[in-house]
Amino acid sequence: MKWGLIGASAIAEGRMIGALRGNGDEVVAVQSSGQTHAHRFAAENDIAFATTGIEDLLAQPGLDAVYISSTNEKHFPQAMAAIAAGKHVLCEKPLAMTVADAVTMVRAAEEAGITFATNHHLRNAASHRAIRDLLKDGAIGEVLSARVFHAVNLPQALQGWRVDNAGAGGGVILDIVVHDADTVRFHLDENPVDVVAMTTAHRMGQGVEDSVMSVWSMPSGVQVQAHESFTHAHAGTGIEFHGTEGSIFARDVMTQQPIGEILIRRGLDYTPVSFEPEDLYARSVRLFGQAVAGQGRPAADGRDGVASLAVAEAVAQAARTGTRTAVNYGGLL
Ligand code: NDP
Repeated sequence: MKWGLIGASAIAEGRMIGALRGNGDEVVAVQSSGQTHAHRFAAENDIAFATTGIEDLLAQPGLDAVYISSTNEKHFPQAMAAIAAGKHVLCEKPLAMTVADAVTMVRAAEEAGITFATNHHLRNAASHRAIRDLLKDGAIGEVLSARVFHAVNLPQALQGWRVDNAGAGGGVILDIVVHDADTVRFHLDENPVDVVAMTTAHRMGQGVEDSVMSVWSMPSGVQVQAHESFTHAHAGTGIEFHGTEGSIFARDVMTQQPIGEILIRRGLDYTPVSFEPEDLYARSVRLFGQAVAGQGRPAADGRDGVASLAVAEAVAQAARTGTRTAVNYGGLL
């Protein structure tokens, strides 16, 4: 496929261009609002065409698909333009600033008959697919609860708009809660019903939260506890599931790297679980390409992106109001 990049971002440069080319696809154009940045990005990444105008990018001959990785407030208008031009869309999370906009995007994509996906990388990790298999196989019996810990030290280079620009979609809730919501939905095959939450912004956040803790109730009765932060240098990441017959402890798995370890605990015995690591972004791109070709579905589709944003929106509202808040999926789920 021939791809255009909308947004000249660190994630495009660091992960996605390699994943696209590794899949045998071409990256033919890049759009960024700054002319100097667009041309530098194109030159450094061997992309033939650079522009500041999205219409110029969408008009490139033979363009099949776009990858949107601009700041969050731009995803909605850019995705709508790409859908209107009939291009397949792989969009970064959060899909939009509001669930209502995300629903509009996904409905427009479905009506246009194009492939639309959300780049939730974690469900592409071999570690998470192994955990999901364990849960499906009943390895820990009936699931009672889950804990996600995703408190990291946001590197200086990534701080920018994430820590000081609410208008661009900054803050840890839109940045990380969406990933954790997607991952929990992936494992449990159900959608959180309501949430309680508290945020802080005492170290990094300027006008946005830099840490949040929340509890989500699931339709099955499973309780989920989640912790996301930009300010924790040493906490490590992980996910745990606790069931009637055992517990799953997975460490260092809420990450972009194909790493981590999984243990099942029954009584005092710990048993390691093996998995075959694979690049998360390569798998996201491969499944997207197969979906465009009519084989299967993307790893996370548009509806998955709406659902993860809906949980994040409820967490933000619960923290703001101090009340237990129902998750509103915008009528899509
Ligand atoms: P960046 O901050 O690197 O880039 C975002 C935008 O900022 C660019 O598209 C560009 O805006 C502008 N920009 C960046 N660098 C420069 C520069 N040197 N000069 C001028 N403008 C610049 O964003 P990230 O890569 O951190 O995130 C982009 C998106 O991807 C977000 O939606 C984020 O949530 C998501 N993301 C997803 C990840 C995943 O694993 N799924 C991981 C990391 C991010 P413009 O193009 O509009 O001019």
